[in-house]
Amino acid sequence: MILLNPGPVSLSDGVRRALLGPDLCHREAEFFDLQDGVREALLAVYGLPPAYAAVLLGGSGTAAVEAMITSLVPAGGRLLVAANGIYGERLAAIAAIHRIPCRVLEHDWTAGIDLEGLERALAAEAFTHLAVVHHETTTGRLNPLAAIGALARRHGAYLLVDAVSSFGAEELDFDGWHIAAAAAAANKCLHGVPGASFVVVRRDALEIQALRRSLYLDLETYCRRQDGRDTPYTPPVQVLYALAQALRELAEAGGWPARHARYDHLAGQVRRGLGALGIPPLLAADRSVVLGAYTLPAIGYEALHDGLKRQGFVIYAGQGGLARRLFRIAVMGAVGDADIHRLLTAVEALIES
Ligand SMILES: *Cc1c(COP(=O)(O)O)cnc(C)c1O
Repeated sequence: MILLNPGPVSLSDGVRRALLGPDLCHREAEFFDLQDGVREALLAVYGLPPAYAAVLLGGSGTAAVEAMITSLVPAGGRLLVAANGIYGERLAAIAAIHRIPCRVLEHDWTAGIDLEGLERALAAEAFTHLAVVHHETTTGRLNPLAAIGALARRHGAYLLVDAVSSFGAEELDFDGWHIAAAAAAANKCLHGVPGASFVVVRRDALEIQALRRSLYLDLETYCRRQDGRDTPYTPPVQVLYALAQALRELAEAGGWPARHARYDHLAGQVRRGLGALGIPPLLAADRSVVLGAYTLPAIGYEALHDGLKRQGFVIYAGQGGLARRLFRIAVMGAVGDADIHRLLTAVEALIES
């Protein structure tokens, strides 16, 4: 089955084999070698110096996002969230559940972030932290982190980024864009398996945290223990074997710029092919290379999904109110040109039958 949903992804043979690594107790030196290696390789993806730490967690991407928000916004802190999709709204939902003082700049899900509105909000009130989604997977939109980061810097706010569906395939200029922390997961653009996630955090942003809102998702605890070749709880050992292999494969293939180029090529193939079939993309600009949202053809989602699944492809529905208008295709994972070619042939047969 070729997975064209935004993670979990179709695995490479190497990553699949890595899951069968030796039995390993997580309190033995061999595990800490594995943990150290994965943490270093995650920083190396964006060439980050030791002023940053990659902190590993068990759990899906949402665990890392929740750990980032709840561990980094201190008591007395104030959070501003700019939301233009499901995942932006999830940032605000996390703040609400933990009673973190939060203002949400809501946007239509098909709209870009209103940078002037963001600037006004930052000027009107003192916010310690600003949280945004980098690649809003709801629509495939890449939010303008460089401009958002410049605003955060000017107004003295730490920038917290949900980079779950961009880390490893889109540019992330941590220093230049004033990123204090970015949360992501093993099973999207890094091509690992689900079960591990992480936060890449500037150590000075971690140190200011004084209030513990969660026992299990406390980032400072994980960071301190992992720095000391230790772990507070049982980590997903086999998932980390797979992530270590996936990170080796990423580096060997040329790192994030090469993966970006690869996705860009595949996504262009999808976009041109669907366009030729009269299926336009939702966005004309500001698109990620990772995932595209497309207008549903007249046959509707179920017929399209089920027909493609019979041919060995899993596509993804639109979320929430967009479910009746859109479908989505991600190009992450072990997907090749020939797969996309077969996909387009299958779509053509379905919409013309
Ligand atoms: C996938 C994703 C998440 C995490 O979702 P999980 O279901 O926890 O894996 C968070 N943010 C974005 C932008 C995502 O694409």
